[in-house]
Amino acid sequence: DPTKHADWEIAEDAEKKMLTIYKIGEKLGLTEEELLPQGHYIGKIDFMKVLDRLKDKPNGKYIDVTAITPTPLGEGKSTSAIGLVQGLGKIGKRVAAAIRQPSGGPTMNIKGSAAGGGLAQCIPLTPFSLGFTGDINAIMNAHNLAMVALTSRLQHERNYNDEQLERLSGMKRIDIDPTNIEMGWVMDFCCQALRNIIIGIDGVNGKFDGFMMKSKFGIAVSSEVMAILSLAKDLKDLRERMGKIVVAYTKKGAPVTTEDLKVAGAMTAWMVDAMKPSLMQTLEGQPVIVHAAPFANIAIGQSSIIADKVGLKLADYHVTESGFGAGIGFEKFWNLKCRYSGLTPDCAVIVATIRALKCHGGAPVPVPGKPMPEAYGIENVEWVEKGCVNLIHHIRNVRKAGISPVVCINVFYTDTDAEIAKVCELVDAEGARVAVSRHWEKGGDGAIEFARAVVDACEEKTQFKFLYMLDMPLKQRIELIAKEVYGADGVDYSPVADRKLAELQADPEVSKMGVCMVKTHLSLSDNAALKGVPKNWRLTIREVLTYRGAGFIVPVAGDISLMPGTCSNPAFKRIDVDVETGKVQGIF
Ligand code: ADP
Repeated sequence: DPTKHADWEIAEDAEKKMLTIYKIGEKLGLTEEELLPQGHYIGKIDFMKVLDRLKDKPNGKYIDVTAITPTPLGEGKSTSAIGLVQGLGKIGKRVAAAIRQPSGGPTMNIKGSAAGGGLAQCIPLTPFSLGFTGDINAIMNAHNLAMVALTSRLQHERNYNDEQLERLSGMKRIDIDPTNIEMGWVMDFCCQALRNIIIGIDGVNGKFDGFMMKSKFGIAVSSEVMAILSLAKDLKDLRERMGKIVVAYTKKGAPVTTEDLKVAGAMTAWMVDAMKPSLMQTLEGQPVIVHAAPFANIAIGQSSIIADKVGLKLADYHVTESGFGAGIGFEKFWNLKCRYSGLTPDCAVIVATIRALKCHGGAPVPVPGKPMPEAYGIENVEWVEKGCVNLIHHIRNVRKAGISPVVCINVFYTDTDAEIAKVCELVDAEGARVAVSRHWEKGGDGAIEFARAVVDACEEKTQFKFLYMLDMPLKQRIELIAKEVYGADGVDYSPVADRKLAELQADPEVSKMGVCMVKTHLSLSDNAALKGVPKNWRLTIREVLTYRGAGFIVPVAGDISLMPGTCSNPAFKRIDVDVETGKVQGIF
């Protein structure tokens, strides 16, 4: 009973009767050679073999799960994606899902793992939440190796003259500008103390302690290497993209890439196994593919193209997840992932909770790590009604992509009938499908109405279209996203961002790359405190990063950082190990 037991207790109980990975592979339709078992209950998939074997088979239906603008606690997008898979399973559909590997940041901080919750979860929970098949570790190693190459090269270029440098390294002087470094280090936790750092202390002329300079850390999921993993088609594509990563600039302003540092091959070597999607199961035994990572606010935040291609070939219904609200995660799914994959969705689910709608309607914003404000336990139809402006905005966003949305009300057992009825009434008035779903409390049995609504929506014809074409000037595209998707009046640029955009626009290759916005997920605007649908505001672009390997530029809006901070009452306080059995407790 999820109202009495924590997620990890439910998972632990279900894990006693979990199917072996061989059974899950069989359910998904993998052959023996295509499944690469990693123990009894987890596997990897040899995707090249699957895609080659099934190249002529038509794809199944493609469903993206997104949400309204969430509260800091999350609105159950992963939970609802898993609930939908379980619901589709209950009505007899052959179903698969692609979800993202949890990041150690949220697992140890505010939101917990990304395995879903209640009776809609993926198992086994502990390995999934604590490193899983090692993909994020591989990404950190690949990424940080580029930084090792860069920082050691800076020392060598400083300490040696041209002749010595060429003789010792076999490479001509690159002449890297230490004040114009694009890349930082990554680790997979939220650590505000590492946002701005000095490295190579004492590393000055003639010494071998590095090169003293300002540097920075981002969370691993925001790494360009992660974005490349989400988008790459195969190993060849990955290798090419890996070499295009810009780490710094020369003193003349030319980009210095990982290929220039001769490190791209070794970086790719770390990624060979990470390229293969992983496999696990729902509480009810449906196959779940896991690949790439969350954080659509500061990263692309999508499950990978490879995982979706595999799921679409093997299942009749394939559910994928794009992070955070339809304004940010879905926008990236729509204009980046679908563009690069050539796949288009048959329907998009918008997950809404009464909790978040109340928050958009005026209820006090929940503070992570603190008890929920009492107001959330008391019926308040007026707040819900007011908050529905945010939901309606997201319905219209999804429609701009030419896709039919299905609103899923992810019910909490404290929600009242009158509150739920109000949302249904307003969504009906907007002419969209709405399903009331109780998967958290009842598993697949609670998600049958939801699954039927999705099956129905998938039968409708879609008229998928991108918001912008890649020949549209970069600034015009940023403005289009800000106005059309976020509801801003316009965009302001810092002098640094303005200068960078002018340079990027002048480069014929870069100016045709995509735009991957970095912006708070807690508001449609760039100010996390503004709820509902903020009016009379302008988006501020602070800086612009270049992810040439991933194939997009990254405008950074407002004051968001690529390295989140850990809160005062983090989840790690509640995690421990039963030393008799070795079982991990307290993950949610
Ligand atoms: P998101 O994917 O939107 O970030 P998650 O699916 O990870 O959100 O859910 C966030 C948290 O909320 C999880 O701890 C989950 O157990 C809990 N949760 C989700 N849906 C419900 C629900 N219907 N009732 C109670 N708790 C829920």
